[in-house]
Amino acid sequence: MGKPTGFKEFERKTEAYRDVTVRLADYGEIFSGLHDKEHLQTQGARCMDCGVPFCQSSNGCPVSNLIPEWNHLVYSGDWQNALDRLHKTNNFPEFTGRVCPAPCEGSCVLGITNPAVTIKNIEHAIVDRGFEEGWITAQCPEVRTGKKVAVVGSGPAGLAAAAQLNKAGHSVTVYERADRIGGLLMYGIPNMKLGKDVIQRRVDLLHAEGIEFVTNADVGGEGENAIDIKNLVKENDAVLLATGATKARDMEVPGRDLKGIHLAMDFLTANTKSLLDSNLEDGNYISAKDKNVIVIGGGDTGTDCIGTSIRHGCASIENFELLPQPPAERAEDNPWPLWPLIYRVDYGHEEAKESFGRDPRDYCILTKEFVGDDDGNLSGVKTVEAKWNKSEDGRWNMEEVAGSEKIWPADMVMLSMGFTGPEQYVSDALNIDYDERSNYKAEYGQYKTSVEGVFTAGDCRRGQSLVVWGINEGREAAREIDSFLMGSSTLP
Ligand SMILES: Cc1cc2nc3c(=O)[nH]c(=O)nc-3n(C[C@H](O)[C@H](O)[C@H](O)COP(=O)(O)OP(=O)(O)OC[C@H]3O[C@@H](n4cnc5c(N)ncnc54)[C@H](O)[C@@H]3O)c2cc1C
Ligand code: SF4
Repeated sequence: MGKPTGFKEFERKTEAYRDVTVRLADYGEIFSGLHDKEHLQTQGARCMDCGVPFCQSSNGCPVSNLIPEWNHLVYSGDWQNALDRLHKTNNFPEFTGRVCPAPCEGSCVLGITNPAVTIKNIEHAIVDRGFEEGWITAQCPEVRTGKKVAVVGSGPAGLAAAAQLNKAGHSVTVYERADRIGGLLMYGIPNMKLGKDVIQRRVDLLHAEGIEFVTNADVGGEGENAIDIKNLVKENDAVLLATGATKARDMEVPGRDLKGIHLAMDFLTANTKSLLDSNLEDGNYISAKDKNVIVIGGGDTGTDCIGTSIRHGCASIENFELLPQPPAERAEDNPWPLWPLIYRVDYGHEEAKESFGRDPRDYCILTKEFVGDDDGNLSGVKTVEAKWNKSEDGRWNMEEVAGSEKIWPADMVMLSMGFTGPEQYVSDALNIDYDERSNYKAEYGQYKTSVEGVFTAGDCRRGQSLVVWGINEGREAAREIDSFLMGSSTLP
């Protein structure tokens, strides 16, 4: 274990982000990138090497990272072996080390009495060091099986599956309809949270290991970039659908068609593409400059819209949340080791406070109508306050507070209310069954769709989720595909 008395001696201290005023002037990562070895050794020393490490259990890390092992190795200064341990369970720790909400920390045993171990910082530092030292190099499989697998979609699920299937010796081609590889890692999560050079570095390694990538390839689509899915199934020994949950939830209230109301993903995707293509000089993005912006819906996407709008130079920013503000500490019905449903301040909230003097979140707000001017432009949002009452059977019911109507001035609204499931044109072309939530139907752990030889993993199977769950499903689906092709599998 780390240091037997480490958890008593040292306090939890996370690595600071770059100073808010400095980072607001650019689209670089919020992280300082300065991984102080001594500091991290001290933090690793806090790990108790629990007999039952809840951090890597089912409530904790979805890819079962060997957390106490690499905490100990970092404490001992053996970073190369820590990296080796990290890669055993996670193909892309440089992604999760940056963007994962760290369910492992929510279930860390130390968290029962003290602040949890800084697991995410340690993961981030191990993999950054691995790249700096040149320890991470392409590992090509020694033997090829002669089997061909097509992966549709290049998000974390598709990439993790491709990496594992390639390791097993299969010839893998990843098809992506966007012009760049990475799924929501590329066009979704903004540069501030995950630099696009970090994604490209991994994609280049995967390519050097033998994986082929085809961009602008709309599988099952109809336009000029269309690729026939039936041919893909015929030409390959197996196909994995990892197309994500890309259907955004919309808001059906009066005034929805006014100019200035956008889906969050249209705003974020255009911004990243323009940034990468031309450093925003081509003007092919939706600008929030000098606008009064309202983001409807919280979560990661809402925060990313806030951070991006402020960088554009918006005049003001509000963020509506329908639910009440979470408590500062775990509620009684949310005990350890469950994910703590507590009030958190993310990077975008901190930046809004710095820019406009207050946290932009407004709780218990229900949008009733978008208000416009005579030219059809958005000019405001009409809302009421929501009151949440618990019924006798323990369910929460919402009630509108009489007399609480308000009109908020707004020139721009971003709808960030999550996703309802995958688009269905690829799956319809194959006659794949859906589950009751309109996701592609396949059992967790098996990943087989209703069509022989066609598998599915990630958000298109489980619904909108997290990068780390995408990696988990991609790895597991690869093992199932390997067994389907070879009769058994040695993939983890
Ligand atoms: C704005 C935003 C911020 C987020 N922030 C975080 C975060 O901080 N931490 C976190 O853990 N998670 C975050 N998430 C969630 C996370 O990004 C997703 O859960 C994860 O990317 C899902 O992985 P996936 O591989 O299943 O699908 P995706 O990443 O959605 O990738 C699917 C890919 O399939 C492609 N595709 C779809 N149909 C076709 C087709 N017919 N032919 C070819 N290609 C196709 C799509 O273009 C896309 O590139 C965020 C999500 C959003 C939207
Ligand atoms: S639960 Fe926390 S203290 Fe225990 S092994 Fe995991 S990281 Fe270490």
